[in-house]
Amino acid sequence: MSIADNIAEIEAALDGRAKLVAVSKVQPDERIEEALAAGHRLYGENRVQEAHSRWSDRRAAHPDLTLHLIGPLQTNKAKQAVELFDVIETVDRPKLVKALAKAMAETGRNLDCYIQVNTGDEDQKAGVAPTDLPALLDTAITAGLNITGLMCIPPIDEEPAMHFGLLKKLATRHNLPNLSMGMSGDWQTALNFGATHLRIGTAVFGARDYA
Ligand SMILES: *Cc1c(COP(=O)(O)O)cnc(C)c1O
Repeated sequence: MSIADNIAEIEAALDGRAKLVAVSKVQPDERIEEALAAGHRLYGENRVQEAHSRWSDRRAAHPDLTLHLIGPLQTNKAKQAVELFDVIETVDRPKLVKALAKAMAETGRNLDCYIQVNTGDEDQKAGVAPTDLPALLDTAITAGLNITGLMCIPPIDEEPAMHFGLLKKLATRHNLPNLSMGMSGDWQTALNFGATHLRIGTAVFGARDYA
């Protein structure tokens, strides 16, 4: 199947219930061009530098692009991220809230942000612990960030459904409309739990070649 076919098949399954964030990290130019030629305009990237080299020129050619940052953000890259992206999905600590608020004030750009929740309470994983979410939300709103959703990456060795269910519950409790969850292997499950944004890389573009 071609990339255009992959996109069409996923979009048909979504039937307008959620948006496909095509995760373009590591993918070669010809695959990106194929997705663009198919008309796809919503992409996710997990590194600021890499996203900048892949998308800054293409942004000029396609003003209707929307870019989501879906990877961890260091505070010293906050300004560059705010300049490039439309949505930051990975707000997860007060220091980053502060850096983003400052960068938005400096650039005059006011991005939508999601808070990343570490639903599995994993030590090595980014995201705020579910119990610390209310405090971080408070901090972010006070700082003027436009928090419109939550994002999670379930533990690799666990049933994702319970994590999607938890994220949905937290979003409902805090009145947040956007839910970024589900990847190539589990997006159908995420959709059933109310995902509004599916972050899909491999099932759109094929395997990533890190060599
Ligand atoms: C790479 C990545 C994805 C896409 O993963 P696939 O399994 O290729 O669909 C989704 N979310 C995040 C945060 C990622 O870093």
